[in-house]
Amino acid sequence: MIRKSWIIKEDDINKLRSFLLEKHGKEDLIDNDPNIKWRIRINNNIFILYKNNKFYIDIKDNSLLEDIEYIIGKRFKDYNLNTEIILGFDEVGKGEVLGAMVLCDIAIEKNRLKEIDNIIGSANTKERREFGYWKSIATSLSQLIKAQELKNIQPIFIDKYNVNELLDVYYMRMIRKLYDKFNDRTITIIIDDYNSGKLLKDYVSSLKAEVIIEQKADDNYLAVKVASVIAKRARANAMEKLREEYGNLGSGNLNDNATIKWLEEFKNNEYPWFVKQSYIQNKPKERFPVSNRFSFENGLVNIKDFYIFCSSCGNNIRSIKLGTIHKCYDMRCIHCNKIIKDANIEMLYYIGSIILDANIIIHSIISNDLNSTRLFEGFTFLIYKKVEDECNSQGGKAALERIANYKSIGMINLEHIEDSIYKNTDDTLIDLALKYNAILMTKDKPLYNKAQTQNIFCIV
Ligand SMILES: [Zn+2]
Repeated sequence: MIRKSWIIKEDDINKLRSFLLEKHGKEDLIDNDPNIKWRIRINNNIFILYKNNKFYIDIKDNSLLEDIEYIIGKRFKDYNLNTEIILGFDEVGKGEVLGAMVLCDIAIEKNRLKEIDNIIGSANTKERREFGYWKSIATSLSQLIKAQELKNIQPIFIDKYNVNELLDVYYMRMIRKLYDKFNDRTITIIIDDYNSGKLLKDYVSSLKAEVIIEQKADDNYLAVKVASVIAKRARANAMEKLREEYGNLGSGNLNDNATIKWLEEFKNNEYPWFVKQSYIQNKPKERFPVSNRFSFENGLVNIKDFYIFCSSCGNNIRSIKLGTIHKCYDMRCIHCNKIIKDANIEMLYYIGSIILDANIIIHSIISNDLNSTRLFEGFTFLIYKKVEDECNSQGGKAALERIANYKSIGMINLEHIEDSIYKNTDDTLIDLALKYNAILMTKDKPLYNKAQTQNIFCIV
């Protein structure tokens, strides 16, 4: 059984009505309902047009749905693609002043389109819905999706840089991951156009894949619509968690009175981390630091090539020291011990991921920093299964939980990873740092030394 509804254009109403009557539809008498224009039945299938031009169907015969969608121009364009795998990309929270922007990618097989369509085709992604609504849809979809990733872009970076340039880089990274996974099959990449730049366009044109970058792709392509729904669900979840902690934030939109009222409570612009201050005050943005030091065509610098320049001693350093004074963290040159400002931002943009050793987790270094200095805001933390097992103490579990909590409010990204070839944990961490192109963070001297011989950038 399929239930769906659309708002229909005036021109399509007569086309629909004649189609249904041609199919031997029987028209009901609807004298006593002021909201209905007409109701037509074909056997057990019901078609209702409301006075506000909403067209509702409740049908058992699938072929009728296809015909109707053709007539009203609502059939998703994915059906016409000549491809095996469709990759859809979308983001939410770009316009809102509160909360991280959430990006989502998904991979689906073209031959599962119809099943996905039945679950999600009629969901209105523009409408604001309760968390439970998106959750139920996402749960049914999860069986049909081949791969999926969510990424947050934090307000602190949106305040600093041009949002579209940030999106270019984040999408390049997400595309590359999926492309590597499916490039033995024919791929179509579809991105809801946010005003994408040259960086992204040059990158996707280098791939062996059909690429569609279109506005309103979330209406026209099912794969993008799915990505949009999943991103919405994640953002709704994060906003809900923030509301629990910070009270009535409203929707996070600047035209929402509750949001404005909530923002007014803060004096001297001392806002919490999830407020995009550039949306309130007009601050000039910096150019996104596309490097001429590194090759950056894929939106990533190879971890073996990455270094940071210390302007105090003039060295290019391949590891950095995390210092702490009165619960405030800083990053220092491994040679001269001077603070290097914005080292975290360089690491975030060029690499983005940090793989954690157990000693970092157990000492709560990440959550302590996120609670104070926030050098690690925005990173993707990779936690290897065996490392997680090493944190199996009461304190370790609590520390893992705190990290997970920062992920749930959108402050960081978190991935749990495994490796099939098990060596000892240290060697595996090095392999994984190379495989995932991640910075290694450890307090363990032998592991650090080993990683440095492999040219892996470390935080110690
Ligand atoms: Zn130095």
